[in-house]
Amino acid sequence: MRIVKSASNENSTSEREDWYQDLVLKTELAEHGPVKGTMVIRPYGYAIWEAIQGELDRRIKLELGAQNAYFPLFIPEHFIKREKEHVEGFSPELAVVTHAGGKKLAEPLIVRPTSETVIGASFHKWINSYRDLPLVINQWANVVRWELRTRMFLRTSEFLWQEGHSAHATQDEASALSRKALEMYARFIEEFLAIPGVSGTKSESERFAGAEVTYAVEGLMRDGKALQLATSHELGVHFAKSFGTEFSDQNGVRQTPYQTSWGASTRLIGAIILAHSDERGLRLPPKVAPVQVVVVPISPDSLVRRAVAKLGEELTARGIRFYVDERDETPGFKFNHWEQKGVPLRVEIGPRDVKAKKAQFVRRDTGEHTAHALTTAGVRAWEMLQQIHDGLYDQALEFRTRHTHRPKAFTEVTRILKDEGGFVELLWCGRASCEAKMKRETTATLRVLPFAKEHSGRCGICGNAARTTALFAKAY
Ligand SMILES: [Zn+2]
Repeated sequence: MRIVKSASNENSTSEREDWYQDLVLKTELAEHGPVKGTMVIRPYGYAIWEAIQGELDRRIKLELGAQNAYFPLFIPEHFIKREKEHVEGFSPELAVVTHAGGKKLAEPLIVRPTSETVIGASFHKWINSYRDLPLVINQWANVVRWELRTRMFLRTSEFLWQEGHSAHATQDEASALSRKALEMYARFIEEFLAIPGVSGTKSESERFAGAEVTYAVEGLMRDGKALQLATSHELGVHFAKSFGTEFSDQNGVRQTPYQTSWGASTRLIGAIILAHSDERGLRLPPKVAPVQVVVVPISPDSLVRRAVAKLGEELTARGIRFYVDERDETPGFKFNHWEQKGVPLRVEIGPRDVKAKKAQFVRRDTGEHTAHALTTAGVRAWEMLQQIHDGLYDQALEFRTRHTHRPKAFTEVTRILKDEGGFVELLWCGRASCEAKMKRETTATLRVLPFAKEHSGRCGICGNAARTTALFAKAY
């Protein structure tokens, strides 16, 4: 089963887009909002977000020592203008409020595209001594970036995310936290979303506006395109300087703190859809699936009912999210419905099964049918959900391995990116001109410079001495 189609064919591109949008709509994850580029996240989609949020929030607090806070949606225009690169990077995407309360405002208000500046203003008040550091704050919020081309979950004018912001006494500490945040995202994405990520550093052209270093986790989707899954930035002293934030060190000397920021958004739901779906529909990783097990009674028989109720008790005892589909529809209709919705495991119980003291299990990741004793069906379901997570992860990893190319000649690079898609790993001289040439000739961008890769040899684009390994792909 492959969704990958020739990327050189314009028709196939729009077909893929239709496929994606149709699936989002049909499975009731989301729908378009009344303002172009906005979306309504429906309960089935929002439950996935809540699962992501719950676990990520736990890890952010536990692993990064962050505390949650909330900052205003509106940012005074002059705040955004304080950091030059930041304003240049975000200006084209800003939504600006010029009128409020029936009057023209003396100063326009920016609807936050990200919160470095408004949080920077609070950090200025909160930081005065080395004792106030490190300061690690996380916010769950919506942000607005006025995008021209939008696609639900992947790129919308308004989206939900968490943004972490920290301040440190030294650059080393800031750098360490920024890397730790990135590792946290990569592990979360593997352990919760069953997507193998590639972590690394962004090139200068792909860096966050106002950052000194941007790290990212990139995933490969089943259509051969890359998707940025999470980012983490070393902001240096840029924002602290622009807000005049200083602290007294142990010797009473005034110093400027180093800052970081890091985030992941509702785009992760888009990643789940694009990384795991097949021709039947969604395949949700069990840990975020709103319904982990759907139980379909094959007849309204009272013995079947009793067996289903007993199974329900066992699933509840194990904390499994399940739904018993007793709707007045045929079993076949129900099977298709839940397969399309990506429910990881289906359990069928009919009169014959009750007689044989069995239940039929059907895995969404492999389609495999197996029969299990009713007495142990609860614990088997629990074990199988873990196996389904591993199964989805292994398939995604196998796909990525098969679609990570290391071509020798540049002509081969262009052919692969045009015809097959996937990641192209190349040695790179570090010159922006080579990166630009790649983009011009193939539309592929430099996704990341993966950590700990060898780099002796020649640049795969210009032939000069290489400085690093770079991962290129067409991307969302
Ligand atoms: Zn080069």
